[in-house]
Amino acid sequence: MPTKSKFNFEYTYLNLPEEFYERVSPERFSAPEFALFNTKLAQELQLPENTKHYADLIFGQPQKKHSFFAQAYAGYQFGHFNQLGDGRAIMLGEHQTIDGNRFDLQLKGSGKTKFSRRGDGKATLKSMLREYVMSEAMYALDVPTSRSLALIKTGEPVYRQSLHEGAAIIRIMQCHVRIGTFEYATHLVSKDATHALLDYTINRLYPELAQAKNKPIAFFETVMQNQIELVAKWMKLGFIHGVMNTDNVAISAETFDYGPCAFMNTYDPKTVFSSIDHNGRYAYGNQPQILKWNLVRLAESLIPLIDEDKDTSIEIAMASIQKFDALWNKTYYGSMLLKLGIAKNERQYFPLVDEFLKLLQTQQLDFTNSFAALVDEKIDLNKNFTENENFITWQNKWKNTIEETSSFEYAKQLMKANNPQVIPRNHLVEESLNLAVEGDFSLFDELLEQMKSTYSYTEDKPEKFTAPPKPKFDKSYQTFCGT
Ligand code: AMP
Ligand code: MG
Repeated sequence: MPTKSKFNFEYTYLNLPEEFYERVSPERFSAPEFALFNTKLAQELQLPENTKHYADLIFGQPQKKHSFFAQAYAGYQFGHFNQLGDGRAIMLGEHQTIDGNRFDLQLKGSGKTKFSRRGDGKATLKSMLREYVMSEAMYALDVPTSRSLALIKTGEPVYRQSLHEGAAIIRIMQCHVRIGTFEYATHLVSKDATHALLDYTINRLYPELAQAKNKPIAFFETVMQNQIELVAKWMKLGFIHGVMNTDNVAISAETFDYGPCAFMNTYDPKTVFSSIDHNGRYAYGNQPQILKWNLVRLAESLIPLIDEDKDTSIEIAMASIQKFDALWNKTYYGSMLLKLGIAKNERQYFPLVDEFLKLLQTQQLDFTNSFAALVDEKIDLNKNFTENENFITWQNKWKNTIEETSSFEYAKQLMKANNPQVIPRNHLVEESLNLAVEGDFSLFDELLEQMKSTYSYTEDKPEKFTAPPKPKFDKSYQTFCGT
């Protein structure tokens, strides 16, 4: 097959009112160098496979006409409303595949825009490597996510308390519209702008809603359902996003903005790693409640469009939001039950999930490995645990439920498909990033390679990739935003 040499770009976002964007060019870095390129992803999306095309696109002659732009948005950051926007990213274009799928190609770490506020518009190599490895790992874990197409070393230093190597990443998403884009439209532009944004987003992501009786509400409920499914997947894997501000919640329900995210080792709902999350607002166990809070912000942004009469609008929106808890429980427990090999998503089985988690918490056990051990008897569960009376009682109940609902054989299949053997453990991610910054990508590549077969159970995975760190590691481990 001939390799693609062309982008199939459109710029439909520029049909929105001009308040939604700023046309901007990337900074002309002195010595850009493609350090990573995701050929498989390029092939899947029918994008050029030679980095030369990207270099030409981004760093080519400025007289070449292009329509790059930065998006305006707002957002509640740790509960406080702020006007934001792409402060260090620009949209390179919306690429269309032959089957009509559309993807945003965004360059992050591209230099200042009018939304940069006091920032430098740049990113360090380590933080972009982190985004690359975490997003590709999430993809391997079957979680909807932004993807990483390329990592470019800019050849320029970035100052973050000390000097670091600079980098930019080409990130791909179905669409970068966020809850924060709706907040921006409603609170900082106009009702007409919100209307235009709603029509745009429906057309782009949820065209089936174009004929809905009440479009804003149908839209809200669809986003709610999709976001619930997304966050339930995070919970299922022990993923902690770390900065669930409304500007980081995509309407497409893709995970994105991999700054301070991390994976939980020992099960504890209070787990939080982000250095700035002093109150644990975005701790593992708070994510469902924060999602609900964020969705209420989306509903608020849609109030002017739901009904002519504001009170009626609020009433209708409230009725939708009130569906959250039941929808969450159904989706969350449904996916956690799959981890236990139980396909019947019925309320009577929900306690099995809570009881197992409670046992893990009490015994301070590893979340991922404890579920994997249920699949594979070769994995030793801690003896304190397996010989514990409470565990034995639970285990009997669990086995009876499996017999009642299907068979052990079927349960095993379900469990394999829902319990990864390998996750990007914090200590391994850090080690691989520290090496990669020095030019040694061996561990970085190996980690991504291991991730690709994380659900296969065809062979024993190297202990290096399955063993949790010493508990001491997590106690002092911290992640950082926007570095
Ligand atoms: P984040 O925490 O990554 O979601 O970023 C929040 C906001 O800060 C977004 O509007 C970013 O574009 C902006 N931002 C983050 N880092 C920088 C930077 N180095 N320079 C300019 N803007 C930034
Ligand atoms: Mg962000």
